[in-house]
Amino acid sequence: MRDGDRRLGRRALLVGGAAAGVGTVALARQELAHLWWRLPGVEKPRVEGAVDFRGAQWVAASSANLRRADRPDDYGIDRVVIHVTQGGYRSAVKVFQDPAHGAAAHYIVRKDGHVTQMVRELDVAFHAGNREYNERSVGVEHEGFVERASSFTDAMYEASARLTAGICGRYGIPVDREHIIGHVEVPGTDHTDPGPHWDWDRYMRLVRSARTAGAQRAQGA
Ligand SMILES: [Zn+2]
Repeated sequence: MRDGDRRLGRRALLVGGAAAGVGTVALARQELAHLWWRLPGVEKPRVEGAVDFRGAQWVAASSANLRRADRPDDYGIDRVVIHVTQGGYRSAVKVFQDPAHGAAAHYIVRKDGHVTQMVRELDVAFHAGNREYNERSVGVEHEGFVERASSFTDAMYEASARLTAGICGRYGIPVDREHIIGHVEVPGTDHTDPGPHWDWDRYMRLVRSARTAGAQRAQGA
């Protein structure tokens, strides 16, 4: 435990300045949860090929492009980050499977609305280029190009909205633009996705209605 205590101290110090607004108690609890996760043999059981979004196809990303974790117990999830792949679906899958790529997102939404999951939501995917944002978010890629309005199809918007609504429902994430953000809005990024052709008003409207429908289903309405 000595090593764990030292780690807690250092991390608390590092986090201290940036954590204005986060209560000390909440922070301590988060750190304890994190330490608990670091003990061997206590991570959640995993089922090979399982997905977090019903209907998604599982294709595993290289383990080099993610960090195994136990979210939301070790890190709370309060953001969904929207990306655009700058390429086709197949090349996105391929690079996320490549251990040399150093990045992967949890999901890729294809032009035709097909959803592929490549990293479990409990794990930290390297998609935001920002450690803290990776730890707190789920990353959703969309096939296409930021500069091409035609990349973003009706089927894609609808499938992605259902996916994001499900993520928001699972972790109690508010459906608003503070919590559903573009990669471009991640602090320190030089990425511009999803770009000017991504219709945020339309997307948020779709997420909101999918979230309402999901909540009603959960209540048996
Ligand atoms: Zn991105």
